Amino acid sequence: MADFAVEAQTSDELPARALEPGLEWRVIVRFSEIALKGRNKEWFMRVLRDNTERALTGLPVSKVTIRPNRCFVHLEDVRAWPEVRKRLRWVFGISNFSLAVRTKPDIDALAEAFDVLVREPPTSFCVRAQRGEKSFPLTTPEIERAVGAAILRRHPMTVDLRHPELTFGVEIQREGAFAFVTHEEGPGGLPVGTSGRVAVLLSGGIDSPVAAYRLMQRGCRIVFVHFTSFPFTDPSSWEKCRELVKLLTRHQFESRLYACQFGYVQQRIVVSVPAELRIIAYRRMMLRIAEAVAHRERCEALGTGESLGQVGSQTLTNMATIDRATELLVLRPLVAWGKSEITAEAQRIGTYEISIEPDMDCCQFLVPPRVATHATAEEMEAVERELDIQGLVDLALSHTEVEEFRWPESTPSRS
Ligand code: ATP
Ligand code: MG
Repeated sequence: MADFAVEAQTSDELPARALEPGLEWRVIVRFSEIALKGRNKEWFMRVLRDNTERALTGLPVSKVTIRPNRCFVHLEDVRAWPEVRKRLRWVFGISNFSLAVRTKPDIDALAEAFDVLVREPPTSFCVRAQRGEKSFPLTTPEIERAVGAAILRRHPMTVDLRHPELTFGVEIQREGAFAFVTHEEGPGGLPVGTSGRVAVLLSGGIDSPVAAYRLMQRGCRIVFVHFTSFPFTDPSSWEKCRELVKLLTRHQFESRLYACQFGYVQQRIVVSVPAELRIIAYRRMMLRIAEAVAHRERCEALGTGESLGQVGSQTLTNMATIDRATELLVLRPLVAWGKSEITAEAQRIGTYEISIEPDMDCCQFLVPPRVATHATAEEMEAVERELDIQGLVDLALSHTEVEEFRWPESTPSRS
């Protein structure tokens, strides 16, 4: 059988009859925001379909088809459902999805599906129908009543329209009738690849991986850029970034990590920039280097994990001064998030455990004791006059390694 992990819970959730041969299983995938996209809708849906197919690599899925307001995953073996469900929760653009069985478009066939979908009949239930195929002879309320009555003939239960223990969903579409009882939440947002490319500065801390995740959720494809203080530190922060990129690649399937040895640039800054302006000078240099990467990678914007007021370097004045080092748009998805919100999101998306691993982010002699909270662009330009900016950017780029990551096999390959 296929090489997917058959989780024990499959048999706990579904009745034994679900494994009978001859049943046609589909996952009905629904989306919310794409529905609003007017003329681009078809393109959005194709991207979503391609991403869904890619996410289900290696699982027994024969195809993914698109319909005006749905995607249908054709599932060849229902035992893969737990794994399918796990992966669909990573696909941005999906608002929710249901495991459904396809039946003949008639009331008795739909009612019979109850027995392959429900293991233990609940005490109360209701039927909710949707009729996409207008030629079907019954109206939506008539379908609900008729299917409900047919199920009640098989299983005594109470009908509770307000707080049913189980909702039996029915959809009549052009390609057949579908019955389902699950309603799984997807991650929402827009399909990765529909909003352009962004180079995100990834530090290995808690914030920047969350920033990258949120940009992916808005449809961006991310190129990651990490700066190590090598040769003054060990590569532990780089190692963490690898782990983070490996994890995040499951949302975009292919990633590139640019790891830049930034130590010599920092050393040069230490020599000519006053201590309290150094962090701002580092950040401005990071943006210039990231901008060069962005041009090479056709990224339209840079992204950071900065959040207003979190540390002294992240004041409005400093952020504006940092922005002046680049012509590119700088996106800060977490700008208005508090630390506890960011931490909770990092835990939810799985990056937190990697981020809190100890690392050598920056060597002590490179970190100043205080940071100016109101460094102006003019002040920075004055102290940077001593620096050969282009020379330092080129130096950093010549000490940059690129690694490729792929999902499912997120094995990095260096170049
Ligand atoms: P994080 O948890 O993302 O490290 P932080 O709260 O530690 O954020 P800073 O260290 O001030 O904040 O960094 C602000 C932002 O600058 C980071 O979110 C990241 O986008 C970028 N940045 C900082 N250090 C690095 C680095 N070594 N490599 C790449 N980007 C960095
Ligand atoms: Mg940091």
